[in-house]
Amino acid sequence: MRVPSTEKRKTVFTEAMEVFHAAADLIGLDPRVRLELEEPDYEHIFYVTASLNDRLAPLPAAEASRYDRLIESKLGPDGLVPLPDGKFILRPDALRSADLHVENGVIRLPGKGLYRIEEGQSKRFKAYRVQHNQARGPYKGGTRYHKDVSLDLFKVLAAEMTWKTAIANVPFGGGKGGIKIDPREYSLDELEAITLRYTYKLKQLIGPDLDIPAPDVGTNGTVMAWMFRQYSDGERERHTMRGIVTGKDVRIGGSEGRVKATGQGLAYCVEEWFKDKNLPIAGARMIVQGFGNVGSAAAEILASMGAKIVAVNDADGTIYNPDGIDIPALIAYVHENKDNLRRSVAGFPGAQAISKNDFWEVDCEVVLPCALGGEITAEVAQKLKAKVVAEGANGPTTPGGDEVLAARGIELIPDIIANAGGVTVSYYEWIQNKRMEHWTEAEVNARLEFAIKSNYRIIQDIAQNRPRRTPEFDSRPFVIGKPLPTRTAAMVLALKRIEAHYLIEGFSQ
Ligand code: NAD
Repeated sequence: MRVPSTEKRKTVFTEAMEVFHAAADLIGLDPRVRLELEEPDYEHIFYVTASLNDRLAPLPAAEASRYDRLIESKLGPDGLVPLPDGKFILRPDALRSADLHVENGVIRLPGKGLYRIEEGQSKRFKAYRVQHNQARGPYKGGTRYHKDVSLDLFKVLAAEMTWKTAIANVPFGGGKGGIKIDPREYSLDELEAITLRYTYKLKQLIGPDLDIPAPDVGTNGTVMAWMFRQYSDGERERHTMRGIVTGKDVRIGGSEGRVKATGQGLAYCVEEWFKDKNLPIAGARMIVQGFGNVGSAAAEILASMGAKIVAVNDADGTIYNPDGIDIPALIAYVHENKDNLRRSVAGFPGAQAISKNDFWEVDCEVVLPCALGGEITAEVAQKLKAKVVAEGANGPTTPGGDEVLAARGIELIPDIIANAGGVTVSYYEWIQNKRMEHWTEAEVNARLEFAIKSNYRIIQDIAQNRPRRTPEFDSRPFVIGKPLPTRTAAMVLALKRIEAHYLIEGFSQ
């Protein structure tokens, strides 16, 4: 038997915490506060099970000749849900008005060919919720449905939420969770069942004043509606519980402006960066990685400010147009076109396809990573032609990437301010739910703009060692007496705001 090594290995979490430790050392963070923040308060891992529908899998060509005389079957409308791998999900209601001809489990679909019916399986999924810290308020953070999640990753993302809520100065702590699943392989009714089971198991651990989930990669307002229903099901005063999740549809208590809030906040940061440099945003070239909620909203808003989005990369392809991509047309192509099963930019007619490698080398002023973490490695950072990287995604730049960016003089707007717009408007949604109010989009955006820009200014002041008090903000308590890299400066702001709670309130025993 091999004896496990006792040597401490680097993990995604320990790597992500390097900037925490650097900032903690710089400000002489109280040692007990450091211990409190170094690991999450709670790490929940559990399993959810669900019964899946039957699948129809294309019959291998070698077997087809045996079914030459099989008559075509007719199925009810919306009975078949196409999957990216060529299979179909067979929904039970398809059978109600069906004219079925099945031979040895094989069926012929009009215009599609022969398929084998695979019996629906019961499946188990690994699920998580990490609650990192609640010194400043209830745990708060997104719900991710993705095939590459892990406890380590959720620890990183939950800790990031603690820093981000402090930077946005909203009265929340940090949490994050989700399920190890590729949601594109399941029908809506299956995802609903999986979400209900996930929420059922989470019910004792979350609450509008305890832990408030929101959408993240692979989830959206529809998933939030299911979570709200399951959490409040059967309660007499369920209307008081709308604040259990944020990112809801505006018709059921969501906030105006929430869908675009993260992209909007990112755009406000980029706007401030251009203002500082005294450069026009109109005509500036930008490349965007990820064209989901964050990437598409940021691209749309920045394009409306006159920026030229010259390349977009996502999980399934990359497109390039040196004259600027027509962003409203791309949004329609990706998000409003039912035939685009992967919801990808690949194949967009208004641009040419390029490789992911070439994407990073596109000449531009701004890189907007808005997909997953760990994308801008040292190797990628070496290729970038941009002046600034504005992090829409969580943790898109690795520590090695950071070093190369700094060495090459490429500036950085770190994630914990750049994508804080989402949680800021989530806070507005939560207040509106508590007060039973509904604010206009103009009101939401005016508050968001003030919040993001003033906290952005404080971070820039910390980074440039420039203590000052203006009518909008006071950076004097946070500036430490020497210039800092922007990411460290943002962390200094977060830690000083969190530490104040422990130092002034003390520790509960
Ligand atoms: P989404 O699921 O709506 O979109 C994700 C996008 O990333 C898709 O376009 C997908 O194709 C692309 N992508 C996935 N894997 C990729 C890969 N390997 N290479 C290139 N592209 C890839 O997710 P979202 O809500 O837009 O979130 C994107 C990022 O922003 C995440 O890091 C998330 O944590 C962060 N974030 C989101 C919010 C929010 O409000 N939604 C708030 C703060 C931070």
